[in-house]
Amino acid sequence: MASPFSGALQLTDLDDFIAPSQDCIKPMKVDRRPGSGVAKIHIEDDGSYFQVSQDGGMKKLEKAKISLDDCLACSGCVTSAETVLITQQSHEELRKVLGANKTAAPDQQKLVVISVSPQSRASLAVRFQLNPTDTTRKLTAFFKKIGAHYVFDTAFSRNFSLLESQREFVRRFRGQANPEQALPVLTSACPGWICYAEKTHGSTLLPHISTARSPQQVMGSLVKDFFAQQQRLTPDKVYHVTVMPCYDKKLEASRPDFFSQEHQTRDVDCVITTGEVFKLLEEEGVSLSELEPAPLDSLCSSASAQEPTSHRGGGSGGYLEHVFRHAAQELFGIHVTEVTYRPLRNKDLQEVILEREGQVLLHFAAAYGFRNIQNLVQKLKRGRCPYHYVEVMACPAGCLNGGGQLKAPDTPGKELLQQVERLYGLVRTEAPEDAPGVQELYECWLQGAGSERAGRLLHTSYHAVEKAGSGLSIRW
Ligand code: SF4
Repeated sequence: MASPFSGALQLTDLDDFIAPSQDCIKPMKVDRRPGSGVAKIHIEDDGSYFQVSQDGGMKKLEKAKISLDDCLACSGCVTSAETVLITQQSHEELRKVLGANKTAAPDQQKLVVISVSPQSRASLAVRFQLNPTDTTRKLTAFFKKIGAHYVFDTAFSRNFSLLESQREFVRRFRGQANPEQALPVLTSACPGWICYAEKTHGSTLLPHISTARSPQQVMGSLVKDFFAQQQRLTPDKVYHVTVMPCYDKKLEASRPDFFSQEHQTRDVDCVITTGEVFKLLEEEGVSLSELEPAPLDSLCSSASAQEPTSHRGGGSGGYLEHVFRHAAQELFGIHVTEVTYRPLRNKDLQEVILEREGQVLLHFAAAYGFRNIQNLVQKLKRGRCPYHYVEVMACPAGCLNGGGQLKAPDTPGKELLQQVERLYGLVRTEAPEDAPGVQELYECWLQGAGSERAGRLLHTSYHAVEKAGSGLSIRW
């Protein structure tokens, strides 16, 4: 999976780069001695890596172990500052804050808010053999038992992320002649992909990336801006924790773009993975199944949070489906009832087309995993990318398969993923524009859709990062 702890050898500018079907690019020991004549790396379907020499000889590569310390030595990816930020984001940190709250004077205590992702909920539901609603309520009970004050669902903040994505796409599609508003639009909710784009092909890719904040970071705005005001607190008095399916979300939360200089606080103070929640449960000696359920909290009075909700379009957020349906209606007056995916080279690369009288009106794709991302980037660089919009995710199979999700020693990965997908799919879906509370917040908090305030609190920007000079670089 794409995480700072799984390290990866990134081969730049390989035309026919292929990655294995179930894992991301893995760290491998490559023979770089003079005369070794390495031409490229070939990856078999079973995930084995081979070094191919210029004379066509193949040598199987051993897996290399890369720790965070190794990453610090490469000058191109995780910096020491980032490492400090990562260590600030663990379930141990959450424990410290909860512990400090117990002994601190009331005016020194923090209001602890926990926002749980639907992907983490599904993974825990499988482990504890619960349905998603019970999992949500029991998890809420657990967090409150250990000292959290409020527990929210990031499916709520995802409504804003989807709506902002749809508006941005329509605006950019209509302004196709403006090179500053480049098509295709590439989604931005996956920090593994964003890190890759910024550190390897910044000038090519960044103009294409959607500026809409991810659900985690919209929740950051909601909690530290809207909710803190409601509670009559400054943002630094709120400690905001998110529960996410991958480690990459820790680095996303640590981006300077999401740090308030004025209040010296981040929108999301601490990210813990699904696996870390499981550890917390173990350390507390609690089985989720045995807890009495407690209702989820809601951010505003009209947003009923009695049960979790979700969106159509799969376990990575449904960006493609939502933007496709909306764009078909708004740009061409076509109501799409069913979105039909056409698989391309593999199951992680699919396309969706809107046609009228044989003319392609919209051409969208979903590209998951680095083998498909590499190919997408090559197409873009050559000016041969046919898509208007691409949902890009670093993990093969998407967020339900994130590196922070629970593993099951006795269940093969594929089977476990199917179970997680099934439970994720049981949650009631709603269109983001119809979700209770969303329109109210656009009016009372953001001063209307498209306002300067909505732009500032729901969008972000990206920054190209200089990479190391060699053709090979290590990335996380
Ligand atoms: Fe995290 Fe999802 Fe991206 Fe995987 S695909 S790195 S789980 S955001």
